[in-house]
Amino acid sequence: MARFTLTCSSRRLVVAAFSGSRCFRTEPVRRESSALPIVHHGKYVCDLPPGHRFPMGKFPRVLHHLIQDQVITEKQVWVPEIASKDLLSCVHTEEYLNNFISGKINEQEQRRTGFPWSEGIVSRCRYETGGTVLAAEAALQRDLACSTAGGTHHAFPSFGSGFCLLNDLAVAAKYLMGSSSPKRKVLVVDLDVHQGDGTAFIFKEEPCVFTFSVHCGRNFPLRKQQSDLDVSVEDGLEDKEYLSTVEAHLPQLLETFRPDLVLYDAGVDPHWEDELRHLRLTDQGLYQRDLYVMKTVLSRGVPLAAVIGGGYSRDIDKLAVRHSIVHRAATQVWNMKPL
Ligand SMILES: [Zn+2]
Repeated sequence: MARFTLTCSSRRLVVAAFSGSRCFRTEPVRRESSALPIVHHGKYVCDLPPGHRFPMGKFPRVLHHLIQDQVITEKQVWVPEIASKDLLSCVHTEEYLNNFISGKINEQEQRRTGFPWSEGIVSRCRYETGGTVLAAEAALQRDLACSTAGGTHHAFPSFGSGFCLLNDLAVAAKYLMGSSSPKRKVLVVDLDVHQGDGTAFIFKEEPCVFTFSVHCGRNFPLRKQQSDLDVSVEDGLEDKEYLSTVEAHLPQLLETFRPDLVLYDAGVDPHWEDELRHLRLTDQGLYQRDLYVMKTVLSRGVPLAAVIGGGYSRDIDKLAVRHSIVHRAATQVWNMKPL
């Protein structure tokens, strides 16, 4: 893949494309023939019992708002396949997959996940995981792609936890790492307000995957795992300090680890209006964060696939618009991209 540096010149971007040791500058070119891949499936959603506190309805509403606001068109939607049991077994144990798929999940296990078992929940989690894998594949082809779900980072190989039943980030990382020779290196940038404990555990001994998590320390999960880099922040952090925290680590990680792909969990639960209320980011702060991450990664010639991560509100449409911030920022970055 060509390497690009993006620098602001007036309000437009000047692109310096590097080919071997030669460097030449060209005017920005807007892609008309191909658009930012948005990965979505109508089956990302399933029924839950009335009053259940997980905002399941947000997934189709993210796509709805993106289309309604003319951020994207239906033509740029990529539809994933359901993740096969074979694919899932690169991360999850056979016993867990058998029990999860067939409904042999006892009450205590169901309480830990936060979901009553149903065929619908199995199906939605498998499509969601297929979506993250497709977004990662699309990013390898097109440099940037976003799903309208994903980021189930609390799922472990043999159990689910905290609304996460299958670890989509881990499955995508492992699948893409192993599908090339030499193995691809994957950097997981997890900016959800909760630690990506399942992902950290899964890759704790895997040198080709680097897990980076910025999260609120006094928060679920109580027992943290060790990521390759954990940055634990205090309650109440606001936009400026939060962005400075990300800026203090991301460029150096990209320079030292040199990933072939970044998987970005753009959770919106650091928002000040999130139901869990730990941090105090604004809509603009989330937008600046997402823009910064994507520009910083892509400017080094590294493809990035984004997932929406966590976000909690009883106002489903407000929440869906908040989740669509990452797609809006990605669209801005995409429009800066050269051919
Ligand atoms: Zn979260």
